[in-house]
Amino acid sequence: MKFKVNDSCISCGMCAGSCPEVFHMADSGMAEAIPDDVAPELEESAKDAMNNCPAGAIEEA
Ligand code: SF4
Repeated sequence: MKFKVNDSCISCGMCAGSCPEVFHMADSGMAEAIPDDVAPELEESAKDAMNNCPAGAIEEA
């Protein structure tokens, strides 16, 4: 499973705070997901970040 952040990101930082293994804040100020498959043990945390994103900016890639 992979994730990506779309242009709707409002730079709140929540995903990077709750699941830093997968999401980080890029120099652009918007979040980015790692390009690789998410390790199975991190999938639930990454999905929670996706579901809790206030802008709906995280998608399964
Ligand atoms: S939680 Fe959503 S809006 Fe907030 S930084 Fe992450 S992708 Fe952007």
